[in-house]
Amino acid sequence: MPELPEVEVVKRSLKKKIQNFLIRKVRVNDSKLRYPVTNKDMSRIVGLKIKTIKRRSKYLLIFFNKPIVMLTHLGMTGKFFFIKNKRKFRTSFYYELNNKKDNKHDRIIFYLSNKQKLVYNDVRKFGFIKLLDLKNYHKNSHIKSLGPEPLGTKFHFNYFKKYTKNKKRNIKSILMDQKFIAGLGNIYVNEILFLSKVHPSREVKNLKNFEIKKIIKITKKILTYSIKSGGSSIKDFSSIDGIKGFFQEKFNVYGKSGSICSNTDCNKKIIRLVISNRASFYCSDCQK
Ligand SMILES: [Zn+2]
Repeated sequence: MPELPEVEVVKRSLKKKIQNFLIRKVRVNDSKLRYPVTNKDMSRIVGLKIKTIKRRSKYLLIFFNKPIVMLTHLGMTGKFFFIKNKRKFRTSFYYELNNKKDNKHDRIIFYLSNKQKLVYNDVRKFGFIKLLDLKNYHKNSHIKSLGPEPLGTKFHFNYFKKYTKNKKRNIKSILMDQKFIAGLGNIYVNEILFLSKVHPSREVKNLKNFEIKKIIKITKKILTYSIKSGGSSIKDFSSIDGIKGFFQEKFNVYGKSGSICSNTDCNKKIIRLVISNRASFYCSDCQK
């Protein structure tokens, strides 16, 4: 499931490749995404020029030369492919290309200037595309209550301390809470807590100052690292199959229950525990 770094790399790829392009035609192959989308809806952006592409949390925002914004969430399995001269390219590092199997899940095709195409592909169809008015897109229910961006300046010690004061909630669920911090999902939160040496079920009001500082520092570090290495792993839309996203191969705990802890001085096995309905993976020796 794409989280902030994966979506950020999509944004950067799209900026590089489709910014300033014209949408010549849109074809909706399957209107049943998380929210229905029809050819008629999409006709609103035909003829428009793509001005810029931004990201907020795990959402992509595409701006045009008319006051319309295309809000996209990739859900569980959403991906954008870029097609040029009949060659297909990835736009991020969290998926592989599979020319035989991909096609039947191509849900929306954007025909661009210079005979290039942008394809929205989604196997499980939890993703969505919505067209919003520029004037009040920020009031949209998906984005209006989002907390600060983890890589932004508003995610800092005082904010963390104030927000978590006297709260009994556990650190795992608060890091997953998009109102507290926007864009983190289960994978990165598990890794952040492992590297911060904090047990996922710790109550946030009991976290020590040095632990809060560590969580913030590690969060920013992992995301930055992942964006950088994920971005470079797709090497300017390289279409070579079989290259996995860098960070995803380097998980310490996520999905690793039963494996020996990756810390060199530790022989404990990684434990899986369900916290707030989501799987948590941790080392009981290294995380307190
Ligand atoms: Zn350990």
